[in-house]
Amino acid sequence: MNKFSNSKVSRLSIVVLLLVSAMLLMVFPSFAAEGQVKNVILLIGDGMGFGPTQYARNILVGPEGRLTFEKFPYVGLVSTYSANQWVTDSAAAATAMATGYKTNNEMIGVKPDGTPVKTVLEAAQQAGKAVGLISTNTIYDATPAAFGAHFAARSGSDAIAAQLVDHQIDVLLGGGSDRFLPKGVGPGKRADGKNLVDEVKAAGYVYVTNRSELASAAGSKLLGLFNPSYMNYQNDRDEVNSQEPSLAEMTSKALEVLSKDKDGFFLMSEGARIDHMAHTAEVAGVVSEIKDFEAAVDVAVKFAASRKDTLVVVTADHDTMGLSVTEPFKPEVIRQVKASPEYMALQMKKDQDGVLTAESIKQVFADFAGITDLTDAEIVIVQGTSKAAPYKQGYEIGSIIAAHANVGAISSAIRAQGRTGGHSGNQVAIYASGPAGQAFAHVLDNTDIARILAQVMGLNL
Ligand SMILES: [Zn+2]
Repeated sequence: MNKFSNSKVSRLSIVVLLLVSAMLLMVFPSFAAEGQVKNVILLIGDGMGFGPTQYARNILVGPEGRLTFEKFPYVGLVSTYSANQWVTDSAAAATAMATGYKTNNEMIGVKPDGTPVKTVLEAAQQAGKAVGLISTNTIYDATPAAFGAHFAARSGSDAIAAQLVDHQIDVLLGGGSDRFLPKGVGPGKRADGKNLVDEVKAAGYVYVTNRSELASAAGSKLLGLFNPSYMNYQNDRDEVNSQEPSLAEMTSKALEVLSKDKDGFFLMSEGARIDHMAHTAEVAGVVSEIKDFEAAVDVAVKFAASRKDTLVVVTADHDTMGLSVTEPFKPEVIRQVKASPEYMALQMKKDQDGVLTAESIKQVFADFAGITDLTDAEIVIVQGTSKAAPYKQGYEIGSIIAAHANVGAISSAIRAQGRTGGHSGNQVAIYASGPAGQAFAHVLDNTDIARILAQVMGLNL
């Protein structure tokens, strides 16, 4: 022990120094973190606001329990507004998280004027890191697209899929084979005649289409497309005899492939159908999708636990339907639900005029939701969707189940007025674990996420 440590003055100055350092770290959260992270696993629960998370906690582990990501040491809050709306869609939100720039709803990896902006995935790629995107949505839809493509409209599926291939993203796993294949080939819908699957195979990728092929896939580049459109809802897997991998299985395989790169990697893995279920307000489905997402978070945590160079970040792009746990909520209603509202819609029968019959509506609600006391007014609401797309029919079916369970949610009427189909402008949470995780333990804007990720990985964004 040296003589200075014995003096009261020195002890005081050490305390002051420590306090100042702590304050500097609070003001400049990434001050000490520059470049200290080799690998990033970013898991996005689409639409996973506080309400969906609360229902998942209550139903899966009880109100006193903690979901995997709620055990992370660092937690922050994130504002999600877009450049032109208080309420964002997934395109503008993912663009903000990927690039550090706000853009308008519907825009992918570009500023509101259409100028492309570099994404954290591209910056990681430039630094020699391996990169991957996973989604239970189509892989060309908003969230993965905003990390790996640039397009003024999220609906530009053909162009976005082609960009994901051109950009040589090492691992792409999800739904959406329709936009990788030309019309006339399998489920292909591409108008330009290109066969992107043949292109990636020629470029040395392994291509897989089901769970068992994914499990046995080897190599350093991987394309997995498991559905022509969105991947199956968790609550429909048994009904449709699903051969698709879970989000955890996709995340695990992606980590196996990407971690071979000695320069490190960036992986974004999205539980996309949390949002799709939340749009219907049907809470059993929301919870099942969060359970699938949580299992993927578990995979990431286990990978990171054995090493000191991997940051795991879990967040949501926005809240959907302002779900809340009400006092008269009836969990017993939710426990009866056996399939997604969209699947239920597809089981209903129509009369000669193309109108869903009252008989089949009643039958389907009884068979798949255990609801036997539908009112005439509710039957009329469902019949009113007879000409709508099945996912839109699912909105009304889900909201009726939610009403029977006393779920707190944005009303059908308000949902119908918005362009996002029921997103809310509520803040979302962000959870971080691993080196530099403390940088996220603040009230943040979604644009901060890209900047912090780039900084802690030492990337030039
Ligand atoms: Zn949505």
